[in-house]
Amino acid sequence: MTNPTSPVRVRYAPSPTGIPHIGNIRTALFCWVLAQQTKGEFIVRIEDTDRSRYDADAEKAIFESLDWLGLTWDEGPGKGGPVGPYVQSERQQTYIEAAHRLVESGHAYFDDTTPEQLHALRERQRAAKQPPRYDGRGRHRSTEEIEESRQAGLPITIRLKVPEFGSVSFNDAVRGKITFELKELDDFVILKSDEMPTYHLAHILDDKAMGITHVIRGDEWISSTPRHLLIHQALEIEPPEYVHVPLILGKDKSKLSKRHGATSALEYRDQGFLADAVFNFMCLLGWSPGDDTEVMTREEIVRRFSIDRINDSPATFDVEKLEWMNGVYIRNMSEDELIEHLLPFMERSEADGGLPDTVERPIDQVYLKKLIPLVHERLKLLSEGTETLDFFFADNVYPAAEDLPGRNMDMAMTETALEAALSLCNSVTSFEPEHLEAEYRALAEKIEMKPGQLFSPIRVATTGKAFAPPLFDTMAAIGQERCIERIENALSIVRSAASTSAE
Ligand code: GLU
Repeated sequence: MTNPTSPVRVRYAPSPTGIPHIGNIRTALFCWVLAQQTKGEFIVRIEDTDRSRYDADAEKAIFESLDWLGLTWDEGPGKGGPVGPYVQSERQQTYIEAAHRLVESGHAYFDDTTPEQLHALRERQRAAKQPPRYDGRGRHRSTEEIEESRQAGLPITIRLKVPEFGSVSFNDAVRGKITFELKELDDFVILKSDEMPTYHLAHILDDKAMGITHVIRGDEWISSTPRHLLIHQALEIEPPEYVHVPLILGKDKSKLSKRHGATSALEYRDQGFLADAVFNFMCLLGWSPGDDTEVMTREEIVRRFSIDRINDSPATFDVEKLEWMNGVYIRNMSEDELIEHLLPFMERSEADGGLPDTVERPIDQVYLKKLIPLVHERLKLLSEGTETLDFFFADNVYPAAEDLPGRNMDMAMTETALEAALSLCNSVTSFEPEHLEAEYRALAEKIEMKPGQLFSPIRVATTGKAFAPPLFDTMAAIGQERCIERIENALSIVRSAASTSAE
């Protein structure tokens, strides 16, 4: 299907029963993009008719995810609009009325089969190796019998009468024509015994009332679509265009789940991913622009997005690619922007992955700005700011003795290197990186060590880490006084290790 040229009305209709999965938010993203492209409307509707599974935290997370990703909605909760309310539990009356109308028109019927009877039916079918399905017994109940059951307090549902023969078809925008044989379907519930509608009925009425032109949803709904088509027929309304987007799999080709790591957009936010990078990455889950372009601005995605390039095969969620992409977005940021994004991570409590609690908050931004050029190229996640920069802010660092020697160095050699390094650190006349480098290279020659051998213990002594930004820039940023203290500290660590091993 080519892209619509007239403005679409599309909706994201989450059920607040759990924290929204990345695949679920991806459908919101596709809706949003298509609405922007066609200058249409993106609508959010909360589908909360399953009251037993309602979860207020999930609802909060839904809005937080949309906000974070910048998926602003034109109509919906908190925003209002001409065809609200946009929360299904507030629209109950329209569902009840429609279900009753379908009973009156002969397309549906009241059913008083109890859950116990349904269970017994399923057990019998299982024993007979038949697929579990409702047997249509309610079709034969009289109005009086239903009334009696109602008086007796039995649960009464309304079921749609599914024709026993024939087929229904629809043209899916992604998969083409799909046909279902009706004999595969049983009469299904449209209004539950608590007078709440099932998803099948509610979403159709709402999509109609809200003027939805394109239903973009996960392809797990394809198998329910024949039911939806039957409801449309019974209500004598035209179905919308269906755009079923593919499932998201982990790299091992199994359905993306907790086993693969984070599955919600908010977890990625908390891990230090940027909203723009996640947005970019998510739009490639099941869609591609048709060439090798991967890094795209929102504007470019909006311009290039096309329904006919949505894949019909599952998308693979490759977290390494997301990390790479996040790194690209970080590199493309200005230093000031990066600081703004890093600060909330670094200023968290130490237990939550921030700098040691001993480091004063707010963090010295002038100092942080000096450090950014040293790490900007290497950061992949905002949360890495803490571990990449913590030693710059710490009073001192305490490396383990065995981490101090460089390659092919023993403790004695490490001690010699650190002694020489300390003496130069005390006497050096300038702490500019170039000057330091020249002096320390000359020192290596003088004490007959390879530069790498001399530099390794100095790096670990001053940063506490074997891998850190370029050594002399790092030392310059730490400053002469603190470098002296740190090398002295490392020397005493080496010496006490030597004396312990000599005992
Ligand atoms: N409430 C359904 C869900 O969360 C909506 C499916 C649809 O978009 O039609 O999966």
